[in-house]
Amino acid sequence: MRFEFKTLKPAPHFAEIPAEKWSNWIWQMQQTLNTEADFSKVFELNEGERGGFGQGGKLFKVSATPYYSSLGASCQSIRRTLLPTGLEVKPGAQQMEDPLAEIVHSPTSRIIHRYSDRVLFLVTDTCSVYCRYCTRKRFTGQEEGLINRQDYQNALQYIRNHKGIREVILSGGDPLTLSNRILGQTLRDIRAIENIEIIRIGSKMPAVCPMRVDKELIATLKEYSPVYMMTHFSHPKELTKEAADALGLLVDHGIPIFNQTVLLNGINNHAAIIQALSRRLLYLRVKPYYIFQCDPSEGTDHLRTSIESSEKIVKELWGHLSGLAMPTLSLDIPSGGGKTTLVPNFLEKSSEGLREYRGWDGRRGIYKNPEGEEILPPDVGEYFEEWEVLKRAKTPCP
Ligand SMILES: *Cc1c(COP(=O)(O)O)cnc(C)c1O
Ligand code: SF4
Repeated sequence: MRFEFKTLKPAPHFAEIPAEKWSNWIWQMQQTLNTEADFSKVFELNEGERGGFGQGGKLFKVSATPYYSSLGASCQSIRRTLLPTGLEVKPGAQQMEDPLAEIVHSPTSRIIHRYSDRVLFLVTDTCSVYCRYCTRKRFTGQEEGLINRQDYQNALQYIRNHKGIREVILSGGDPLTLSNRILGQTLRDIRAIENIEIIRIGSKMPAVCPMRVDKELIATLKEYSPVYMMTHFSHPKELTKEAADALGLLVDHGIPIFNQTVLLNGINNHAAIIQALSRRLLYLRVKPYYIFQCDPSEGTDHLRTSIESSEKIVKELWGHLSGLAMPTLSLDIPSGGGKTTLVPNFLEKSSEGLREYRGWDGRRGIYKNPEGEEILPPDVGEYFEEWEVLKRAKTPCP
C-alpha cells in the first residue's frame, strides 16, 4: 500500500479565503488565532476548553495558524494538543517550571550548553502553535520576541570562544517564525564561526504552517549547508498534502530531515499510530529520530504517559518496523542530566565473554567472544588528536 496525503480543507470559518492568501505563510502567521473568541469561530469549545481559557493570566499562551486550527477541528487528537483545558491547573505528580534545568545550563542568555559538542541557541520565543505539553513554557510565548543585539552578540561570542562546540541547534520558540532576512543573517553569522560543522533547525512550522517552506526559504538554507531540519510531527493526520510537499521540497534540495515526536496520553500513545506516522515519514524521506517521554513541565500530567506504557509501544514495534522507520524512545532526565534512551532489553543472561539473548519473536541465541583473541589497537593515525580535542571539551555544568 502506498500512502495518500490529502489536501487540508479549511474550516468553514475560512471557506471564503482565496487560495493565494491561504497558501501564503505570512498571511497564516498574521491571522493566527489567539483568544477564546478567535477559537470559538473554528471550534465549538467544550466545557473543559472554556475552563482552560478561563484561567486568565496564568494560562500558557494559546495560538494556532488558520491552517493548523482547521486541522485541529478535523482531528480530536490534534485538537487536544493545541486547546487548553482546566486540567492544566490541576496539581500533578511532578510540576517543574524548568524540567531540564536549562536555566543553570545557560552560560549566557539564549544559549543552553548541556553536551560538550553542541548547544541550543534560542533565537526567538515565538511559535506558530503553543503545544500544551511544551517543556519550555517558562520561555516560549512569553512575548520577549526577538533576541536583543547584545544578547545575540554574546551568544555568538560564547560559541566562538568554546572551540569544542561543533554544532548549533537553532531552537526557541520556532526559528522558522523569523523572516528569511533575520534567519539568513543568523545562519551566516553561525556559519562564519570556524569550529561549527553542523547547523540544526528545530521547527514545528512544517506541521503547523507548511506554506513556510517555499523557494525563498530553501535558497536561504542551501546557502549555509550542511543544515539539518528537525521537524515535530506527532500524529499521522498532520501529514497532509501541504506538509508532504514541504518535506519533499526540503529533501529535494539536500536538506536532511529528522522528526521528533512527544508521546501523548490518549493522542498518539499506541503502536498503530507510531508505526503509521513513522512509515509515512520514512516514505517522505524523513528519518523518525526520537519519540520522547513527555517532560513533567507544569500542567502536563493529563498529557503524560507512563514510562512502562511507552516502553511497551517500542517493544511492540520492534521486528515489525524497519530500522529506518524506528524512532528511539528517549527521556530527558529531569534536573538536567541530558537524554537517556530506553531500548528494549533482549538480554537474558550475561557472563564474562558470553551473552544470551531472546529476540523479538522469542527465539534464543548466544554470542561468545572469539577464543583467546587479543583485542588489537587499530592505526588511529590523525584521528587520535581530533578525538582528544573533542574529549577535552567541557560544558559549564554546575
Ligand atoms: C536534546 C538536546 C540536544 C540534542 O541532543 P541529540 O541527542 O544530539 O539530538 C542538545 N542540547 C540540549 C540541551 C538538548 O536538550
Ligand atoms: S513548537 Fe516546540 S517550543 Fe513551541 S510550544 Fe510546541 S513544543 Fe514548545
